[in-house]
Parts: sequence; structure tokens; C-alpha cells
Amino acid sequence: MGSVAVTRAACAALDAEDPLRGFRDEFAVPDGLVYLNGNSLGVLPRAAVQRAREVVTGEWGDGLVRSWNTAGWFDPPRRLGEQVGRLLDAGEGTTVVTDSTSVNLFKALAAAVRIQEEDRPGRRVIVSERDNFPTDLYVAQGLADLLDRGWTLRLVDDAARDLAGALDDTVAVVTLSHVSYRSGRLLDLESVTRAVHAAGALMVWDLSHSAGAVPLSLSRSGADMAVGCTYKYLNAGPGAPAFIWVAHRHQDRFTQPLSGWWGHARPFAMEPAYEPAGGIGRFLCGTQPIASLSLVETGLDAHLRADPGHVRAKSLALGDLFISLVEQRCGRHPLTLVTPRDHRRRGSHVSFRHPHAYAVVRALAARGVVGDYREPELMRFGLTPLYLRHVDVWDAVDALAEVLDSGSWEAAGSALGGLREREAVT
Ligand SMILES: *Cc1c(COP(=O)(O)O)cnc(C)c1O
Repeated sequence: MGSVAVTRAACAALDAEDPLRGFRDEFAVPDGLVYLNGNSLGVLPRAAVQRAREVVTGEWGDGLVRSWNTAGWFDPPRRLGEQVGRLLDAGEGTTVVTDSTSVNLFKALAAAVRIQEEDRPGRRVIVSERDNFPTDLYVAQGLADLLDRGWTLRLVDDAARDLAGALDDTVAVVTLSHVSYRSGRLLDLESVTRAVHAAGALMVWDLSHSAGAVPLSLSRSGADMAVGCTYKYLNAGPGAPAFIWVAHRHQDRFTQPLSGWWGHARPFAMEPAYEPAGGIGRFLCGTQPIASLSLVETGLDAHLRADPGHVRAKSLALGDLFISLVEQRCGRHPLTLVTPRDHRRRGSHVSFRHPHAYAVVRALAARGVVGDYREPELMRFGLTPLYLRHVDVWDAVDALAEVLDSGSWEAAGSALGGLREREAVT
């Protein structure tokens, strides 16, 4: 973009040539809304409405308990796992969709810890990053407390800078987010995993802010395990079950402590003793939320039809456009870009710091531009290539400039400040 002023017409011209432009109609983007929060809760795929009707009235309403067989209610965790696996180049039989990201991370970390207790006994440190999504830290700390025996969680301030210094022969497992939910910083899956392995530790990735937005190959990453959300960039619906992946080489030796009957080798033999299913199936716990699981497929289907190269190119182009427009039009306001400009280090959202970020985000929402506020003082704007246009980015920055220039955020902030606690979402 350089110093040449971008116009809305120029953005519309880019949209007309966008190879992904056909996908927007598959999503029910509300009229008049510029939705820059698809990295928190993805927009409804239109096909999900029909699917929900079939599941609720047909499979549940009419089929009732017969639907376990007639509608294949036992299959979704593995079937959807194969689809997520294709998107993430994970390899067959390595991924299931089940439970939440928090619960899956607990299972993955516990499984990794067990492997290390056999292979490298005496290592009792789990490493993560202070800025990681809080649930990841709480779950890791909870596991360390449960294990007791001296297990501790060691946090680095900035994984890209400090990880090497934190890796020693006490470290059993490292867990990091591929894309930071806060800054949007992207880590290199392969080189970080290599460094962790060189130190004798196992690598568990959280892909919540990359799946569906940043092309990646779990097979090539060399990583050990991974988890991630489906309700963000994958459009599976609020609280939809998450995914968990385990590399082939660990398939027959990992175990996880939430040993429920769905993970049993013969669930319907109703045996008194647990025997884990072979392979990834042992990561299941109990009966799955069928209605919610059923909706995962519609979003995934759209993502599987999109060219990952186009998705990444558009995500970066929207990010570049957003950054350059903010700098052109809002340069005199106290905004600081916290997201890396470098394409190799950027995910699919852009965050700016502003001393009154919360009030500004509220004032934008009142103008139909839905971004997000994150502590401390961050405005976060998610860029979802399947249903956002260049003109949406233009309109969002237009609204931001107006809010900042007019100072109207001051009123929005004082009127709505009290809502902050209740609105905290991922
Ligand atoms: C969104 C997100 C989660 C959410 O976990 P839930 O169990 O679905 O609440 C976890 N980790 C990261 C890194 C996230 O971005």
C-alpha cells in the first residue's frame, strides 16, 4: 500500500478479484455488521441451520435412542477428526473431535507427562509462556498440582526470545500457542518443535488461533500432540467440541487419565476394568454432545473446499490493509501496533494498544463494527478470509477513525464500563 491513499473503491476492486469471494454467501453474516471477531466465535454457516433442524427434530425427536445406530451417533468424533486432520495435514487416525480445548489440553499434557515419566524419569517441569491463553496455564498448573512429586510450571515471558534459555534437562513437556490470542504473533511450528526435542522434551501445541486461518502441517511439524478450538476460525458454533491430535509414533503407548467408557477398547462389553482403545480413540472420555458435534461438519466443509494458499494470502492482505489504513487515518492517536508486521510471524488477527481500548471497542460496536477487547488495553481485530472483504476492513477503519477523532468513545466507555466482567469471552 505504501504512502498511496487507499480508497473504498480500490478495496471493492480487490474484492471483485478475490478467489475466495464465493464463500461469503455460505455464511450468515448479519446485514450491516462488520464482524472482526471470527477468531473468538466464527459466523454461522448457512448449512448449519438445516443440519441443526435435521438433528434436533429428526435424529433426536423422531429417531430417539435408535439414532445411535440409524444416524451413526457413535461416529462423529473420529469422522470429524479425519476432516480436521485433512485440514491440518495430520495423517489418518491421529485426530478426534471431542470435549473442550481445556479438557483436551489436560489429557494431552497428562499423556505427555506419562510418556516422559517412562522415557526420562526425573524431569518434572512443564514450560509455557506467561502470555498464553489463561486456560492453558491453569490446566497445566492444575495438572502439576495433581501430580505433586515436585512437578512445576515454568513460564517464559516471550517464547520466541526466551524459550531456549528455559530448556534444560529438567523439562519434560513444553506447551505453547502457535498463534498468540493476544498479539497475533505466530511461532514456527517446526523450528520450535525441533528445539524442544533437542532438549529432550515433548511438544504440545495449542492451535486454537491457527486452525482454519494459518495453513500448517502437523505431520511435518514433528510435534507430539496438539489441541485446538473449532468454534473460532472453523465456524462450528458456540462451545463446539475441540480437536486433539497425537503423532503416529505415540499412538500405542500414550494413555490419558480421563478414562471414560467411550475410550474403552470394547465400550459395550461393559467390563469392570478399563482397557484403552487402540490409537486415538482412547482420547475420548464419555458420551459426546451429539447436537453440537453435528454442527462442526458444516464449517469444516467450507474450509476443506478453500485453497489454503488463498486463505493465507488473503488473511495477510487484509492484515496489511488494516495496519496501513490505521496508520494513515489514525496516526495522530495513541495507538501502538502489537502484532508483528512480518508475515512469517503473524497469525490472522491484528491488535493495537490504546489507553482507552475498552471504551473504543464499545464505541465501535455501537457503530456495527465488532472487534474485541483484551487485557491490557488491547483492541483485537480478527480477520477471517472466508467471509470478510477488503471493504469491511475499510469500513472498520473508517469507523475507528471517526470514533477516535470525535472522542465519542468517552461516552461509550462511561455508559458501558460496568459490563466488562460479564462480557469476557475467548
Ligand atoms: C480460545 C482458546 C481456548 C479456549 O478453550 P475452551 O476450553 O474452549 O474454553 C484455549 N486455548 C487457547 C489458546 C485459545 O485461544
